[in-house]
Amino acid sequence: MERYRSFSRVLKEKFASPVRKISLDAGFSCPHRRGGEGGCTYCDAWGSGTGAYGQGRSIPDQIACAISRGASATKLAGAFLAYFQAHTNTFASIQTLRSRFEEALTDPRVVGFSIGTRPDCLPEPVLDLLDELNRRTYLWLELGLQSAHDETLRRINRGHTVAQFADAVERCHARGIRVCAHVIFGLPGETREMMRDTARFLASLTIDGVKFHSLYLVPGTQMEMEYRSVPFPLLSQQEYAEIVADALERLPPETVVQRLTGDPPRTIPPEPPWTRDKAGTLALIRGELARRDSFQGALCRG
Ligand code: SF4
Repeated sequence: MERYRSFSRVLKEKFASPVRKISLDAGFSCPHRRGGEGGCTYCDAWGSGTGAYGQGRSIPDQIACAISRGASATKLAGAFLAYFQAHTNTFASIQTLRSRFEEALTDPRVVGFSIGTRPDCLPEPVLDLLDELNRRTYLWLELGLQSAHDETLRRINRGHTVAQFADAVERCHARGIRVCAHVIFGLPGETREMMRDTARFLASLTIDGVKFHSLYLVPGTQMEMEYRSVPFPLLSQQEYAEIVADALERLPPETVVQRLTGDPPRTIPPEPPWTRDKAGTLALIRGELARRDSFQGALCRG
């Protein structure tokens, strides 16, 4: 029995076959770094990117390589979502954005998009383009929130407010664009109740999807340096599982759960080390919901 609405189930229902996401680096950068604000304190200079586009690897080439070199589940999937993941994927001219997104559609196996960006990087012409893509394919916009508390957003230097996130969601919903919110649990200064508030806030926006991440420190980031100088508490694996269960209980049952925990890059020794144990974390979250005999939406007042 699945106690939450998983993305894999939703995709299987819609496309009648397994669908996998392919992470792409389209060579974009981030306005929050380029503008001299220094970027979010937990983000390294790569912004989840691989640098592939800058190394001359086109979008179709990245898609073909990811499928041929992927795990057997990827090779066996019949359809794929092009996931524009690295940096801010709406930070370019409309012509450039259109050309990169159209490149992905030249592969007939691509049935849709996930496009990651910031809530303060969605001018109307970009929304027009996303609206068009959403009508032609299956589109999710992934928007970073991380916390529903402005004091936390300031502390991690997100460079936008909670109100800006809500406004971006409202403008997307007015056009029928699905929004998946990114949330980090365990940010410095946050209590368990504050993290529950973030779930309540997302429920109040009738958010379409969520991705939950556990905070891990990336070497060389501002946050890691702050932690080395004045350590703040990091969540244990069990605490994280309980907080995710709290959040799921407070979300509407319809919200699609795209991710329950983060994936530290293989190249870094993560702190805390348990964040590498994805299978163990998922088992703890499912076990926590079972222990409570609870499920997604159990405490949602929507
Ligand atoms: S908005 Fe994204 S890419 Fe830009 S600094 Fe923050 S986490 Fe990194």
